[in-house]
Amino acid sequence: MPIYEYRCQACHRVSSFFFKVASAARAVNCEHCGDDGMERIMSSFSQGRTEADEYRNLDPRYYKMVDDAMSKASSGSDPDHYLRQMAPFSAAEKSGDPYFNE
Ligand SMILES: [Zn+2]
Repeated sequence: MPIYEYRCQACHRVSSFFFKVASAARAVNCEHCGDDGMERIMSSFSQGRTEADEYRNLDPRYYKMVDDAMSKASSGSDPDHYLRQMAPFSAAEKSGDPYFNE
């Protein structure tokens, strides 16, 4: 359920409201002083979008990220490249890596 936060322009304190539907998020009064001069505070949950919308917007980027990572890995240029340069634990132990000489 989305949480809407408002800052009271009279007492400057923040009130949080839960609305089942976004259209209800209009007339609110300060929890602290009752003033209705409330200013909406933007947060990740309060931009008039549903969580489903968030996921829908995320997906294409996520898939592109995976694609990019995979193309980099196959060219041997990125994280995979550095991983391959790292010595396995067994080799580090044999070579007397100080990390293992406790
Ligand atoms: Zn107030």
